[in-house]
Order: sequence, then C-alpha cells, then structure tokens
Amino acid sequence: MFATVWLEGIIALAGAAVGSFLNVCILRMPEGLSVVTPASHCPRCGHPIRWYGNIPVLGFLILRGRCRDCQAAISPRYPLVELVTAVLAWLLLRKYGLTFPFLTASLFTATLIVVTFIDLDHQVIPHRITLTGIPLFALLAVLVMGLSLLDVLLGLMIGAGTLYFVAVYYEALTGREGMGGGDVNLLAMLGAFLGWQAIAFILLASSLLGALVGMVFILWKGKDLRYAVPFGPFLCLAALLYLFFEDALNALFLASLWR
Ligand SMILES: [Zn+2]
Repeated sequence: MFATVWLEGIIALAGAAVGSFLNVCILRMPEGLSVVTPASHCPRCGHPIRWYGNIPVLGFLILRGRCRDCQAAISPRYPLVELVTAVLAWLLLRKYGLTFPFLTASLFTATLIVVTFIDLDHQVIPHRITLTGIPLFALLAVLVMGLSLLDVLLGLMIGAGTLYFVAVYYEALTGREGMGGGDVNLLAMLGAFLGWQAIAFILLASSLLGALVGMVFILWKGKDLRYAVPFGPFLCLAALLYLFFEDALNALFLASLWR
C-alpha cells in the first residue's frame, strides 16, 4: 500500500519534470531550435533561470510569476503544462501499472501535449513531430501495446485519408482552406497508435468539442474565430479520451449496434 503511494508520488513528480521539458519543446520546436541547449532563460532580459526557478510548478510560485531580474510576467501556462503532464502520468500509471505500455502511452501523451500547445500558439503542427511520430507510434503500437499490424496500418491510412478528403471538399465547396496538412498527419499518427477503431470516435468527439468551444468564443467575443481556433488540440483531447476509455467506448458502440 505504502509502496504504491510512493510510486504514484514519484511518477507524478517525474511527470512534472517531464512537463518542464515539454515547455521547452513547445517554445523552441516551432522555431527549429535545439531543445537541449542553451539552458532556460528569461525571454525578455535573457538572464538564465536560477535553479529554484526551474523546479516544476513550485518555481513559478517561488518567483511569484515574475522574472527575478527584470520583473517580466511569466506565463501561468508553464506551471499548467507541468501540472497537466504530472496528472496524466499519474492516471496512466493507475491504468497500466509500471510497465512498458505505461512508458509508451506516456510518450504518446507527452507528444499530444506538445502538439496541442504549439498548435494553439502558432496554428501549426510541425511535420517534424508527426512524420517522426507516425512510424514510431505505429511500431510501438504493434510491439508494445499489442495491436495487430492490420489495425495499425488501417488506422494510419483511414486517419490520413478521412481528413484529407474533408480538407479537399471543404476547400472545393467554400474556396477557403479550413484544415491544414498538419491535421491530416496528426490524425494519421493517432490512428497509427490507437488503431482504426478509434478514428470514428476521435472525429465525432473532436468535432463536437470544437463546435462547442467555437460557439462559446463567438458568443463571448462576438466574432467568428473559425481561423483562430485550431483543430489539433481537439483531435489530441479526443485521442486521450479514447486512450483512457477505449473499453467503455467500444462496449457502448457495440451495444448500440446490437440494439
Ligand atoms: Zn527577465
């Protein structure tokens, strides 16, 4: 019992530390910069962050959300990403135990966190991430997660194909570009890791969530933010929901088929 609590605590702390690294990825990957060097520094005055400022979540509280050198405000997004990563790592540990599927699902989740925040910031999903992720996660799905090669290949192709046609038809009908190539690659990556069975749910859930948030934005800000609200984060959120609730969702789906 105590061993479990200790393990859960250690994994949550490790998750927060990984989240701190994900912040660096989110900041530097779209610029094509190295995520390893140089050490973190204040984006305004360039001063290196002192060791206590780099402690996940706590560093933000110790600094009271300001750079110690120039008093520039630090975005609360940094501790948020660390907290989200910690909580997801803890939830994944509870689902899989300390196993290889846990490590694999953690890598997948970390990738989705990075994609989500880069897409929110830049309306872009770097090909560097998805084109590495597609073969990597397809391989891990078969070797570690126990999916069949057929399920993975179908997931990859249906994932890429569906959004590709949505994008082409949307553009043909409206004359506007609505869906980027980044979304197509992202859904291919999600299908490759979760299998083709996940695609229908991911598309349905992400569209509903996206429409809901879009409407809230229009009502709240009074303008059409079709271009400002990227689709990638909703695809990622739907994929995470599927990862955690796959069994329940498939049971629900089968039950509704046999009715
Ligand atoms: Zn500063």
